[in-house]
Amino acid sequence: MKITVFLGAPGSGKGTQAKRLALSHGFTHLSTGDMLRAAITEKTALGLKAKGFMDQGALVPDNLMIDLIGETLAKLPNTSTILLDGFPRTVPQAKALDANPRTTVHQAIYFSIPEKALIQRLTGRRTCKKCGEPYHLLYVTPKVAGKCDKCGSDLIQRPDDTEEVARHRLEVFRGQNEGLLAYYRQEKKLNELNADQDVLKIESLLTKFLEA
Ligand code: AMP
Repeated sequence: MKITVFLGAPGSGKGTQAKRLALSHGFTHLSTGDMLRAAITEKTALGLKAKGFMDQGALVPDNLMIDLIGETLAKLPNTSTILLDGFPRTVPQAKALDANPRTTVHQAIYFSIPEKALIQRLTGRRTCKKCGEPYHLLYVTPKVAGKCDKCGSDLIQRPDDTEEVARHRLEVFRGQNEGLLAYYRQEKKLNELNADQDVLKIESLLTKFLEA
């Protein structure tokens, strides 16, 4: 199966774009963060192990993540075209993905954005509790405050989007990012995108990358 990896800081818009492209183009969107949050809600063994790391804004250990993505990919048909959002986050994860005989990483797209934009993006983020639709207190406001336009459910803030945890997540990102970019650059698979612009503009640039 064909994989495009979305790389970028928390808050750079990877999830928003992956959701839009999944709807408009029929790609399969896999977000490891969403999978872990679901595992926490369902109180699975993985969820219980992951929660402490996530609450602190730390990375969940590679072995757990590599198993999670391996099991998820194993359930998908070979014909799937996948947008991978939030994985890999470390070079060992990138290597594990390349070692999977059923998958080919086609390209890695780096959502580049100035750091100063990120804290406001993260702390203002809200998500529909039920359908996962993303909002922002300043940029993408719902018609009725606190309620989802699509399904009317409550909007919630992720516990790791508070300022303190968000700052730590950005530090963790900085610690891993150069290594990951170097990995995909050396593989000649890296494309960079200016993620500090209009959502529709980014979507159209991504569509060009994905159709290339
Ligand atoms: P995200 O929704 O992608 O921002 O991920 C939320 C949190 O889930 C991260 O801060 C990590 O604690 C954890 N997480 C998600 N994906 C990974 C990954 N590939 N490796 C390690 N931890 C991850």
